[in-house]
Amino acid sequence: MARFALLVLTAVAMFGQANHDLGYDDIPMLPGLPFHVHDPKRPHPPVVTPAAQAGGAPSDAIVLFDGKDLSEWQSGKSNWKVASGYLEVAPGAGDLVTKQKFGDVQLHVEWAAPLEIRGNSQNRGNSGIYLQGRYEVQVLDSYQNPTYADGQAGALYGQWPPLANATRKPGEWQSYDIVFEAPKFEAGKLVRPAYATVFLNGVLLHSHKELMGPTVHRQLAKYTAHPAEDSLVLQDHQQPVRYRNIWIRRLRGYDQPEK
Ligand code: MG
Repeated sequence: MARFALLVLTAVAMFGQANHDLGYDDIPMLPGLPFHVHDPKRPHPPVVTPAAQAGGAPSDAIVLFDGKDLSEWQSGKSNWKVASGYLEVAPGAGDLVTKQKFGDVQLHVEWAAPLEIRGNSQNRGNSGIYLQGRYEVQVLDSYQNPTYADGQAGALYGQWPPLANATRKPGEWQSYDIVFEAPKFEAGKLVRPAYATVFLNGVLLHSHKELMGPTVHRQLAKYTAHPAEDSLVLQDHQQPVRYRNIWIRRLRGYDQPEK
């Protein structure tokens, strides 16, 4: 005990006020923020344990599909096939809808266009990831399959073509990493549009891109007020696209000012 007290006293004597491991409070304030540069009182972010392997779900993610079952999805579409660790669109069965509803999220989805090439343009390997059931990040076999630019894989459908065509061949697994910032409405009026950041196979397709409104076909998109949270939807576009390893993180308060 005495030895411990001596150690503490020595540490205080050595470092005292000069121990800056956790910051400094004698440096100018950051403009518009209640903190000094390197402020020791600035809140630390929560610890999130990353997955052991790239693409795996971190500790705070909600796993929506782990290759086994559709327990996170609404019933009634059970004819979507689950086999060998993947999920396959059952053509004509209808869209697959999550039970949980989401606002601002980070989403990881892996998908593969059918190995057997059938159809052209929008009729080849078409599916889609609908954030809040409304805002589509297009899934399409865009490997040597010309279509309109704002409809190819990774397009914010009908609005923004991706910055690159980074699609792999049909049958090969591909990954989307998406950050979606939900639109904000007050008293039925839009006060902040939706934004999407999208990577396909690690290649940037959209960086904080402003959405014009919910996805529509052969029309101009426009916002109408909707709930702050809604389901994630996978599109049945009549083609047997496969999915696996789907996880999502809720991003709460990331855009709120620090206090
Ligand atoms: Mg689609």
